[in-house]
Amino acid sequence: NRIVTSSLRSEDGEIETSLRPRYMDEYIGQAKVKENLKIFIEAARGRRESLDHVLLYGPPGLGKTTLAGIIANEMGVNIRVTSGPAIEKPGDLASLLTNLEENDILFIDEIHRLSRSVEEVLYPAMEDYALDIIIGKGPNARSIRLDLNKFTLIGATTRAGQMTAPLRDRFGVVLRLEMYSAEELCEIVTRSASILKIEIEPGGALEIASRSRGTPRIANRMLKRVRDFAQVVGDGIITKSVADQALSRLEVDGLGLDAIDRKMLHAIIQYFGGGPVGVDTLAATIGEETVTIEDVYEPFLLQLGFINRTPRGRCATKLAYEHLGLPFSGES
Ligand code: ADP
Repeated sequence: NRIVTSSLRSEDGEIETSLRPRYMDEYIGQAKVKENLKIFIEAARGRRESLDHVLLYGPPGLGKTTLAGIIANEMGVNIRVTSGPAIEKPGDLASLLTNLEENDILFIDEIHRLSRSVEEVLYPAMEDYALDIIIGKGPNARSIRLDLNKFTLIGATTRAGQMTAPLRDRFGVVLRLEMYSAEELCEIVTRSASILKIEIEPGGALEIASRSRGTPRIANRMLKRVRDFAQVVGDGIITKSVADQALSRLEVDGLGLDAIDRKMLHAIIQYFGGGPVGVDTLAATIGEETVTIEDVYEPFLLQLGFINRTPRGRCATKLAYEHLGLPFSGES
């Protein structure tokens, strides 16, 4: 139940939709990705062709789904949204594909979680815009080929490394989303506040931005929570001091670390002399799952340079000691 989790939570639902940028110019940051996409989109539109298949990868909450919607709007085509785990059988995918109109976009979130049998339907679809359907069983089985409309597959994944090579290789455009700077997040918070009609001072926006772990989804969620706080304890205006008080109350510190991040760093330092400690041992010590540590907690701590991943396990760095106000004696 962490406010700083980058995964989608039920409380995000209603506002995510209203805050989602719809066109490229409203999409803040990710300059390199936008520049590349603009060129591909313009070229495809000029040729009146479908856009090449696009793979977007990066941590949750950075704007992959948003970007897929923007690409559809900029191309002027329809988008169908689904996810890897939702496509259970090859037939599910076949029915999605046969319902696409010329140049439409199929967006598959968490594409690394597609099953093998579903993936195999996708290969000829991506490559030749065709479905190979097996009719009959046993020795009488034969395969017929069904032509599909040209379409663009946009895949999103938090774990490009877990995708099979044949699937990854079929994407013509592969783009990695980066974490956002505090300035970019400040712009995002200010934009969101204006859509939600929340009064916010620049200092308040910056305070939220700097604690939101480089992630727009977290920034928007914090904005909503801080607004509630501002209404109850103040006059509804989000100032720097209101934002600071609200987030401190939620145990989010100046860099965006919460109690669990700090617990993990403390564990590495106090129980394992700063590391290295294996991730399984660490998980057992703080009572979390190994995958949760790897997917949720660790990426941001790595990004901050607070931990190192070595072959023998995780180590806390000097920066982590300093942040926690603990004396550092090792070399790191
Ligand atoms: P992902 O698919 O990578 O998990 P989303 O596309 O769902 O992330 O983005 C989460 C929320 O963050 C969206 O509702 C959107 O409002 C906001 N957001 C993401 N990227 C941007 C951006 N570049 N500019 C403005 N808002 C953004």
